[in-house]
Amino acid sequence: MMGKESIDAYLGHQIGAMREALASLVEIPSFRTQAQNGAPYGKGPDAALHRGAQLAAALGLRTRTVEDVMVEADLGEGDEPRLGILCHLDVVPEGTGWTVPPYSLTRRDGRLYGRGTIDDKGPAVASLFALGALHALQIPLAAPVRLLLGSDEEKGSSDLALYRSKRKMPPMLFTPDGDYPIINIEKGMLRASFGAAYRQAGDRRILWLRAGKAANAVPGQAEACLTGISQQEVEKAARAFSSAISFSCREQSGKLHLLANGRGAHASTPEQGENALTGLIQLLCALPGLEQDGLQRILQALGQLFPHGETDGKSAGLSCREPESGALTLALSVLQCCEGTLEGTVDIRFPLCETLSGVTQKLSQALTDQGFSFKNTMGSEPHMVPKDSPFVQTLLEVYSQQTGLPGYCIAIGGGTYVHGIPGGVAFGAMFPGEENHMHGADEFITEENLLRNAKMIAHAVLALCGK
Ligand SMILES: [Zn+2]
Repeated sequence: MMGKESIDAYLGHQIGAMREALASLVEIPSFRTQAQNGAPYGKGPDAALHRGAQLAAALGLRTRTVEDVMVEADLGEGDEPRLGILCHLDVVPEGTGWTVPPYSLTRRDGRLYGRGTIDDKGPAVASLFALGALHALQIPLAAPVRLLLGSDEEKGSSDLALYRSKRKMPPMLFTPDGDYPIINIEKGMLRASFGAAYRQAGDRRILWLRAGKAANAVPGQAEACLTGISQQEVEKAARAFSSAISFSCREQSGKLHLLANGRGAHASTPEQGENALTGLIQLLCALPGLEQDGLQRILQALGQLFPHGETDGKSAGLSCREPESGALTLALSVLQCCEGTLEGTVDIRFPLCETLSGVTQKLSQALTDQGFSFKNTMGSEPHMVPKDSPFVQTLLEVYSQQTGLPGYCIAIGGGTYVHGIPGGVAFGAMFPGEENHMHGADEFITEENLLRNAKMIAHAVLALCGK
């Protein structure tokens, strides 16, 4: 029987084969497109799923595709897996700014470039080869492990919802689609839209205002158009404004176009951004002589609820904090005001001490008290796997053994692939401080980290399912 040392040696010899497997997956532009027969997310995700199934079968795993959306690949005797590993083979579109071809694996200076190399095709290959190594070395397992390869993580994880309606999830589950050491807490999320109507009179008015393209992002830019107000007046108000937002304006056919530049951020970490929208609202509210403009009045109400520079929801009566999961965060993410109608969206991430219905009720109250109508909401409860559970403790031990670094738990405001699945945590695939351009141009994984992930996953499976 071969021991733990030989797993590392074996995987070390597989790096060329891992690279080839990753290249064959990167070649498939597997972002979601229109559904086709037997391919609910379009040709790309479907082709990636087939390729994943081929790779799994070639590595000796018992492989089957479920509902055309998920590949199951099992190792070990029996069909009641103790552990699941969840990866995804779909990607986000390539976007712009690449210096290498996005859908061809480029090897340069120890790095492997291409869309999906870190998110999540590289980690999927590491998982496949980890199980392949245990199979090839004939290491006996006390209970089976199941690798799951999904195809719709980037567009809302409907693959997982469909799969879970048909199949039971293993009691322990990790996804190498987040950060090391381990993410065991994900805050709850509430996304709510609201509206208001307003009337305008007088020569001095805000004609329109718009900001925010995505409900889950702090807007880095916001713009408005004014009439009857001079550039000098706006510049004077902007000078009195102390924040990192910069304003610029230009006159065009008697109207004044105003642009606010801040810094975008993910809505789960609003404190890392500078919200251009709340900055613009504050500036517009400071402009004199707009008493007859109903839009300015309603923006003043909005500014009281969500003041510029505040990200904890305090003024809306929402702020709360819990030791393990941290503070509630709030981002006013989208606003459109035009021709008497205002529509906006806020994104809230709340800690373990709150519930979705509790936060929804408080926000609804705060908005309706200020005269806004409360509209659609979507959201999820917080997700947590206890940090002292044997599962989490075992993964942390494996992490420390493999890296020589201290293991610890992380709480995040975002949601990972396992959000809402009992016993699910994110374990890898990113090491602390790692740079990889995830979702951006020139995405890469280092060859070293691809191999480190494969070893980590093999040892984790052995620690949780080994004899
Ligand atoms: Zn991912």
